[in-house]
Amino acid sequence: MDIHLLKSVTKLFSKKRKIILIPHSSPDADAIGSCLALYHFFKSNNEVNIISPNEYTDILNFLPGSRNILIYENDKLICENVFKKSDVIFTLDFNTLGRAKNLSSLISNSNAKTIMIDHHENPDKYADITISNSKMSSTCEMVYDFICLINKSKIDNKIATCIYTGIVADTGSFRFPSTTSKTLKVGSELINYGVNVTKIFEKLHNNFQFDRLKLLGSTINNFKKIDGLPVVYTSITDNDQKINNFKKGDSEGFVNFGLSVTDILCSVLFIEKKDEGLIKISFRSRGDFKVNIFASKYFNGGGHKYASGGISNLSLKETEKKFISDITQYINQNYE
Ligand code: 5GP
Ligand code: MN
Repeated sequence: MDIHLLKSVTKLFSKKRKIILIPHSSPDADAIGSCLALYHFFKSNNEVNIISPNEYTDILNFLPGSRNILIYENDKLICENVFKKSDVIFTLDFNTLGRAKNLSSLISNSNAKTIMIDHHENPDKYADITISNSKMSSTCEMVYDFICLINKSKIDNKIATCIYTGIVADTGSFRFPSTTSKTLKVGSELINYGVNVTKIFEKLHNNFQFDRLKLLGSTINNFKKIDGLPVVYTSITDNDQKINNFKKGDSEGFVNFGLSVTDILCSVLFIEKKDEGLIKISFRSRGDFKVNIFASKYFNGGGHKYASGGISNLSLKETEKKFISDITQYINQNYE
């Protein structure tokens, strides 16, 4: 953060503020961790609320303060009243207002000062203060830097736990290419606040129902390889979800299994969302294959170089067919 940014942020918080912290829709550990870390950081001197556009996985309920998160989808009136009196809005872990789904217009129509903290490429210019760095492992790592600049002495075990969880989740436990020596240094400093590394790993990865294990089995069994291309894909149908009591977050990480195969550069997961009438797509890649450009060009999505998402309004079968044709064209045009 440069000196001008620091000055404006310091001035902004020199008096008591009514702050809203907003993660992207269907928030993950990085988004929720960022919100909760800032919640604990600001709450002694300010009025602070966290409003998520919709529900998130109950896996994250172990994070301190999570019971204070308001869900807009479930409590519209309460949330709209919070918006009316707010004077600062943080948008966390997203860089285009559309990712806040049903909260987008409340954010853009608000008179509050908006601050974006985010690590995705090519941020939109909707915020009054944009703190954006796509080289960062996670928004949580950026929240750590932000807090250190304003008042490092306020970091405690709760803040450290929330930040550490987001970093661990977004870096695949410090192993994705976005992990730098500084990321590890931040992790190491957080452990000095008494963060329970084993408990966080257990809560994130070994905390599921038996149904989810069976769903993982069928998703892996379903993987198909596209002839002649370093690409695999799989899907989870509405029926797969029904028979395995699918809950939000259950499919987290499934797509990564495709990249466990030698020479596969791209793995894709299609999830049928019958209630929303669309297919949610997860893209993962490695090496030279940048999946965010593909996601934005063909599936109205985007994200990081190696981890992106998108949507399709076609049926699952038609989406898969379109995907095979699009990816063949994309690889032929860009990589051969
Ligand atoms: P996931 O596959 O875990 O849902 O998403 C992976 C990454 O892709 C997210 O961290 C986010 O950056 C991005 N992403 C997911 N869905 C979308 C989407 O619909 N639009 C955009 N622009 N990015 C997405
Ligand atoms: Mn993130």
